[in-house]
Amino acid sequence: MEMVEKGIAAGMIREADTAVVFHDLDMLERRLGEVTTAFGPAALAAAAIKANPLPPVLAFLAGLGAGAEAASLPEVRLALDAGFTAGRIVFDSPAKTFEELRLAVSLGLNVNADNLDEVERLGTVGASLGRAPRAGLRVNPQVGLGRIKATSVAGVYSKFGVPLADREAILAAFARCPWLEGLHVHIGSQGCSLDMLVAGVGAIYDLALEINARLGARRVRRFDLGGGLPVAYRDTDDPPTPGVYAAALAERCPGLFSGQFDLVTEFGRFLHAPCGLAVSRVEYVKRQPGHNTAVLHLGADMFVRECYNPELWTHGVTLLSPDGREKGGERGTWHLAGPLCFSGDFPIRQARLPDVAPGDLVAIHDVGAYTLAMWSRYNSRQMPRILGYRQGRFNVLREREEPEDLVRFWRGRPVAPGGGGQGREE
Ligand SMILES: *Cc1c(COP(=O)(O)O)cnc(C)c1O
Repeated sequence: MEMVEKGIAAGMIREADTAVVFHDLDMLERRLGEVTTAFGPAALAAAAIKANPLPPVLAFLAGLGAGAEAASLPEVRLALDAGFTAGRIVFDSPAKTFEELRLAVSLGLNVNADNLDEVERLGTVGASLGRAPRAGLRVNPQVGLGRIKATSVAGVYSKFGVPLADREAILAAFARCPWLEGLHVHIGSQGCSLDMLVAGVGAIYDLALEINARLGARRVRRFDLGGGLPVAYRDTDDPPTPGVYAAALAERCPGLFSGQFDLVTEFGRFLHAPCGLAVSRVEYVKRQPGHNTAVLHLGADMFVRECYNPELWTHGVTLLSPDGREKGGERGTWHLAGPLCFSGDFPIRQARLPDVAPGDLVAIHDVGAYTLAMWSRYNSRQMPRILGYRQGRFNVLREREEPEDLVRFWRGRPVAPGGGGQGREE
């Protein structure tokens, strides 16, 4: 917990900071390096923005030569503002409007069409702009669901992509649209085994070879294998590294690394999750027979999945004394309760911790992905200060929200008692 101790010593956690989130940028650089080493420097290592959309973190990744995968138009804006060039941005979303496609094509973004109707729209947009889209097609390999249904997207049914079973329609689309040049696959996020990831990518790789055999070599020349590399949240988790994943892919899909495809990866969780550490002060300790509860300042606002689906999502925790040093002593079972007025508000249930006292700090591990990114406005709590850690120094990546920020977020227009709104009366 050296980062926390140093942060406290450096005065980065102020009296008003009931919680702080750290993001270790040295670790982020190392993890991006692991991806680049495994998939080769020529591959575009796009970071899934939805895992962590903080602008300074995105700008840091842009500076390291990464790409960015955007799930919405505002995420495209975040990527552009962070300094990613259009050619390094991949725009994925299952609900892109004509307007969004027009913007994507005119900017020269990589677009992955989610379905064949979107391919038609892209053709229309490209023709009207006189510019060929840089586009791929997302295909669902239909290899099954992982351990976590809600983040698995490669079942026989999925709301994403064109089912691989529609092979002939996919081939026809490639035959009809000479500008369609990529295939995109994403199998799921966390909870998918290495075998499942490799089977999913393998099925789409076979499709790429078939399209190229039928329609001409290099018809499919961009292969986007998505994200989905899991991380360890429990001591017993033992996820594959990017090196192990790439080696397994090379065995199943030898042509993937031979230079005949421009490779794209879209990892989010793997890059960010272990970089994040959330630290909350313990405000109160409550003891009831059989139940010890520590009341924290982070709950279902930051840990949406953990609170609503506790059997699937969890994090390691460390108890620290107010100076940031790890506390010892005999361990008991503690409910770590959040600050919201909602009874499911337990970011961590049943943690085994030394005796907790008010003023202690609880450090929640591996929070760099899909936590702040999913911040909920329920109860209108202030998002905490977010600190970057780089070569032993701290940067405020985002200042703690003030109550006024929340007032601004919710502000609308007052309703005059006598009406006078904007719609026309019929
Ligand atoms: C969410 C998502 C990713 C990132 O998944 P991780 O599990 O965070 O690596 C990549 N690509 C697509 C299309 C996604 O929806």
